[in-house]
Amino acid sequence: MADAAFKAPARTPAGKGKKLAAEDFKSHVKPDWCPSCGDFGVLNSLQKACADLGIQNKDILTVSGIGCSSNLPGFFQTYGVHSLHGRAVAVASGAKLANPDLTVLITGGDGDGYGIGIGHFIHAMRRNIDVTYIVMDNQIYGLTTGQASPTTAIGMQTKSTPEGDIEHPINPIALALVSGATFVARAFSGDPGHMTETVKKAIAHKGFSLVDCFSPCVTYNKVNTYQWFRQNVYRLEDEQHKTGDFNAAMAKALQTEKLPIGVFYENSIPTYEELDATIKKNGSAVRARLELTPDEQKALLQGFY
Ligand code: SF4
Repeated sequence: MADAAFKAPARTPAGKGKKLAAEDFKSHVKPDWCPSCGDFGVLNSLQKACADLGIQNKDILTVSGIGCSSNLPGFFQTYGVHSLHGRAVAVASGAKLANPDLTVLITGGDGDGYGIGIGHFIHAMRRNIDVTYIVMDNQIYGLTTGQASPTTAIGMQTKSTPEGDIEHPINPIALALVSGATFVARAFSGDPGHMTETVKKAIAHKGFSLVDCFSPCVTYNKVNTYQWFRQNVYRLEDEQHKTGDFNAAMAKALQTEKLPIGVFYENSIPTYEELDATIKKNGSAVRARLELTPDEQKALLQGFY
C-alpha cells in the first residue's frame, strides 16, 4: 500500500484569518542590535506590513544568513531559519519550491547577500522564484566590526581599507534589474511609513522581489548616517516614476548624485513555481504522495542511519 500523503496545514488566505496587529509579529526575544541601528526600522516595517496584509504568522517563513541583520528571524514571530553565511536565498528558494503556499521572506545584510551570496541572489532573480528579499544595506560589515562590504563607497576608510576603499561598489538595484527581478525597490529606515508601504507591495508581488533598505550602521559607518541619507534620498512617487518602464527604472538605478527610494520596477510574468511541471502536477512537494511501499520507505530511511 502506498503511503498516505502528509497533510500539511492549509494556508489561510491573506486577509481571511484572525486580524493581527504588528505586535503579534513580535517574538519574546528582544533585538540585540545597537540602539538606533537602522535594522529596528526594517523589523518594525516588516511586522506592520505582514499585519496590514492580513497574513497569519503560521503562513510565513523568514530565512536569513549571517550578520547583524540576519538575526532578524529570532525577533519576528514567524517560522524562521537562521542559515549559513550567504546561503539564505538558496535555503529560501528550496523552501518555496517545497511549499509554494508559504509566504517566504529573506532578510540579511549587504555583505551576506551581495558578497558571499551573490550567486544565489542572481539565479533566484532570473528564475523569478516568488520570494521577497529584504536587504538591510548599511554599506559595511557590522557584525565583524566595520570592514568594507560590496556596497561600501569608493574611497571610504574602514577597518579593512584604512587608506580608502579602492573597489567599485555593487549597484544592487541595477544588478537586480538586469538579472530579471520582477519587483525592484529601495527604502530607508528613516522613512518608516514609506518603507512599510514599499515592503507591503514587495510581499504582495508575485515573483522575485527585492527591497534594498538603507539601514544605517550607527556604530561602524560614520559616513552613511541617518542625516546623510535624509539629505540624499528622495521618493520616486514624488516624480510620477513609471514602474512598468524598464529603461526609466535603469536610469533611476544609475543615479548617484541623489538616491531614489520607492518602487523602481515591477513586471508580471509567470513564476518558476507556476512553470515547473512537478509543482503544477502535485501542487507542492509537501502535499505530493511519495508513492513508496512501506518496505521502500523503510529502505530509504535506513540510508540515513
Ligand atoms: Fe546595527 Fe551596526 Fe550595531 Fe550591527 S554593529 S547592530 S549593523 S549598528
